[in-house]
Amino acid sequence: MRQDKRVLIVGAGFAGAVYARELAEAGYLVDIIDQRDHIGGNAYDHVDSNGVRVHKYGPHLFHTSNAEVIAWLGRFSVLTPYRHSVSARLPDSRLVPLPINRETLETLFDTRLASEEEAEALLAAQADPVAEPRNAGDYLRSRIGPRLTDLFFRPYTRKMWGLELEDMDASVVKRIPLRLDYSRDYFPNDTFQVLPRDGYTALFTAILDHPNISVTLNQSFDDSLRKDAGWCFNAMAIDAYFDCALGELPYRSIRFHHETRPQAEVTGTAVVNYTDAGPFTRETRWCLLPGHDTGAGTGGTTVTVEEPCSYQDNGYERYYPVKTADGRYQEIYRRYAAEAAKIERMTFIGRCGTYQYLDMHQVINQSLVQCRKWIASNS
Ligand code: UDP
Repeated sequence: MRQDKRVLIVGAGFAGAVYARELAEAGYLVDIIDQRDHIGGNAYDHVDSNGVRVHKYGPHLFHTSNAEVIAWLGRFSVLTPYRHSVSARLPDSRLVPLPINRETLETLFDTRLASEEEAEALLAAQADPVAEPRNAGDYLRSRIGPRLTDLFFRPYTRKMWGLELEDMDASVVKRIPLRLDYSRDYFPNDTFQVLPRDGYTALFTAILDHPNISVTLNQSFDDSLRKDAGWCFNAMAIDAYFDCALGELPYRSIRFHHETRPQAEVTGTAVVNYTDAGPFTRETRWCLLPGHDTGAGTGGTTVTVEEPCSYQDNGYERYYPVKTADGRYQEIYRRYAAEAAKIERMTFIGRCGTYQYLDMHQVINQSLVQCRKWIASNS
């Protein structure tokens, strides 16, 4: 095999797996490495001793409106329809729909809202308009007012990011829509909402199952590994590649606490968010996701509670790139990206390679588009 037909891919998460498959099908010989002992990146899942499928790095709910992304995924797994909904647990333990919808407003304000107009009027009475919202706090105050902001967003964001809403970029909280009807959809704008029937790990196994793909686990990146490759697509953290010479790109990480609870007590929504000021943000009741209770357990079911922390306090496990309102980390990223552009035969890809808070469908779409472009310009 000519050297220019060999490709090294660093990271077996969605970005790396999509590149691997596309390149393999285009006739390239792909070596894909991962420093962890498993494929699937942060989407990796496994069945635990309760017979419950647990996503090791927190709940991954697939949602997109991109038919091409769904068609691509559908080649590798049966996709089970699942529309995600979440409850927020109030300080008095009542559960209300999140995103805020008309039922949430009716419960909190102890009123009946006959129409979307009435719901909007209630929000308008709460809102405290800010001429030019410059951060997540301004945006929420303008849209839903201080009472709802301080209940649903301020403590959660403090726990999640270790930062105030005023320090965060508005795009982070704009991920959560606002509903004036009774819909409980967490992703109301996405046509396709699915889970891979046999789990994400099985999905990745199928994506990487190609005679031109060779997978090596427990293998960290080293520049010497590039010597036999015509190109390297690298999903490692871009600052780590440069030994943080231009400064650190921080990530928020999560400690996962797995509990066994009696099955009968676990009802309602698969995810419950906590509004209180304690250290925990949310819990996932895996058995309420389709296909996640495999029936192999002996009675109890697994519930996982999340405790965010800095990535330094969690073995440098990088989960969430931090997007502050002043864009200070994105500025550092741009300087790394400029250095990376000078490196021959290497492209940084994925959430850590491009320091973006991307959802799975966005990673797959970007990877498909950019990989196909690369193949077209290199053939
Ligand atoms: N958020 C919040 N309260 C909630 C849910 C979300 O304040 O109950 C904010 C918080 O800053 C969070 C962001 O909205 O990081 C995005 O939430 P999402 O549920 O999309 O986060 P993910 O599922 O990616 O962890």
